[in-house]
Amino acid sequence: MGGVTIVNVLPRLLGTYGDSGNELALGHRLRARGIDVECVRVEPGAPIPEHGDIYLLGGGEDRAQALAAHLIGRGLMGPVDRGATVLAVCAGYQILGTSFTDSAGHTHPGLGLLDVETRPLAERAVGDTVVEPFIPVGTLVGFENHRGGTTLGADARPLGRVVRGVGNGPIDRGPGRRPRRGHARKVVASASPSDGTEGAWQGRVFGTYLHGPVLALNPAFADHLLSLVVGELPALDDEYAARARTHRLPPA
Ligand code: GLN
Repeated sequence: MGGVTIVNVLPRLLGTYGDSGNELALGHRLRARGIDVECVRVEPGAPIPEHGDIYLLGGGEDRAQALAAHLIGRGLMGPVDRGATVLAVCAGYQILGTSFTDSAGHTHPGLGLLDVETRPLAERAVGDTVVEPFIPVGTLVGFENHRGGTTLGADARPLGRVVRGVGNGPIDRGPGRRPRRGHARKVVASASPSDGTEGAWQGRVFGTYLHGPVLALNPAFADHLLSLVVGELPALDDEYAARARTHRLPPA
């Protein structure tokens, strides 16, 4: 195929957590395989290009998140209908859902591209996260920092099961159990049901709570997304990612 167009949607609003590194990771992995890459960064007020192959949304604070949802409006509908791949992280993930309620209790309409809904957890979920995925991308590692917890509807499937951290919502430890020390703070009460899952996907639209940036730390996930666009890819030397992952993976 020709080149791949990566559209980084509103990184100035959804860039608090370094998630633009996902654009760099994808660009690197394509160029290393001899595939041309065009990267477009969408500025506030600019239209979202229709011709992208992969759209990226990052994390952000509540106010920036609400503004980003308003600015995007229906701007991702056409690309998703056309079969473009989308990866959205944290605030971006929440925006893709049907609605999200911020920590002040204000409910905002989402873009309706993922059948998920977000409401505040009892307390902020912060810390390293490890996820055993349900898709073939190897153990996922990352960092989470969010107040919202996400409930999946019938059309969305979880990315994986949380081994460490909070992900979509609190892991139900039964009445009276407190979180173990030394882990990411586990939330024990929430407005949303707890199922111990992380992220969601539906067609070619993926959402996750993992920062890191997630695609730099999880090259198999990056290649999974790229393979949806360009087909099967030759392996790369991922020594740097492997080294970064060893600090986050539980001991074998
Ligand atoms: N504002 C959202 C929350 O706190 C998303 C935060 C983020 O993107 N890290 O849930």
